[in-house]
Amino acid sequence: MSELHKFLFDGLPVRGALVRLTDAWTQVLQRRASNSNAIAYPPPVRDMLGEMTAAACLMQANIKFDGALVLQIFGHGPVKLAVVEVQSDLALRATASIGAEVAERATLSQMVNEGNLGRCAITLDPNTKFPGQQPYQGVVPLFDDQAQPIEKLSAVLEHYMLQSEQLDTTLVLAADASVAAGLLIQRLPMAGSGNLAGSMVSKENEDAIGLNEHYNRIAILASSLKREELLTLDVETILRRLFWEEKLTRFASVKGDPVPRFSCSCSRERVGRMIVGLGATEAESIIAERGEIEVACEFCSQQYRFDPVDAAQLFIDPLQRVASADDVQ
Ligand SMILES: [Zn+2]
Repeated sequence: MSELHKFLFDGLPVRGALVRLTDAWTQVLQRRASNSNAIAYPPPVRDMLGEMTAAACLMQANIKFDGALVLQIFGHGPVKLAVVEVQSDLALRATASIGAEVAERATLSQMVNEGNLGRCAITLDPNTKFPGQQPYQGVVPLFDDQAQPIEKLSAVLEHYMLQSEQLDTTLVLAADASVAAGLLIQRLPMAGSGNLAGSMVSKENEDAIGLNEHYNRIAILASSLKREELLTLDVETILRRLFWEEKLTRFASVKGDPVPRFSCSCSRERVGRMIVGLGATEAESIIAERGEIEVACEFCSQQYRFDPVDAAQLFIDPLQRVASADDVQ
C-alpha cells in the first residue's frame, strides 16, 4: 500500500513528510504499458516521472489547500512534457510525452533542459474559484543562479520553495519500476512574538538565535539518505536510521486520512460520449479507415477501443454504451 507520513521535530521549527508510493505508482506505469501506441517509458524518464509524483504528493500534503496541485516539466529535449496531478485527497495521476529517443543514462538536462530552455511549473488549481479567479502558477528554470543546469529534480524544487514560498526545504527523491518515494524536511516559517508584533525576522536574526542550526543539522541528516535506502526500506526504518537522536513527533494516522492512490477521471462512458459528439458520419469514416476507433486518455494513457459494433451501438442505443469488456472502471 502507498503511504504518506507527516512528523514534527519536538520543540524545533522543523517539519517533515515521507511518502512511499507502491501501488499508486505501479498503476501509473501499468496504464502506460498497456497502451500499444505509446512509447514505453525509458528508465530515466520513468524515474524522473516517479520522483515528480513523490514530490507532488509531499507538496500537496504540506499545504492546506482544497484543489489540484499540478507539477509539470515543459521539456526542451526528447521529453516534451511530464505532468503529475495530485488532488487534496492524494488521488494522483501522471504522464510524460516523449518526442525522440532518450539515451539509456540520460540526465535531467539531456531529457528536458537542452540549452537551459526547460521549465518547471507548479500550479495550484482550487476546486472552488470565485468568478474570474485564475489558478496560481509558479515557474522556475532548470538552472541555478550561475546558469548551470540543475541535474536533480529535488534541487529544482528546493529552489522553487525558497524562491516562491521563502521556505528552506530539503528534498530527497527516488523512483524505479516499483516504488516512487520522497522525504521532505522544511523549516517552519518563523512564528511567535516577532511575527505577531509585525516585525520581520531576518534570516540573520534567526541564525543568531540558533534556529537555523537545528534545521541545518536535520537537513544534513535527511540528505544522507541514499537512493537505495529510500527505495527499499520501510518508513519506520528510514525515520529511525536518520533521526534516532532527534525527538520526532509523528502525526497519528486517523481512519479516513487520505492515502495516496492512483485515480483518473477517464472512462469508457466518457470516451463514448465524445465519439457521439463527433457525429455518426465522422465515426463511420474513422471505422472505414482504421477498422476501429481507438482513443487514449492523455492523462493516464489508458486506451479505449470501439470496434464497428461498439461504435454503431453508441449511436443506436445510448443506454448500452457503458458495457464493454475492456472498461477498467
Ligand atoms: Zn485517464
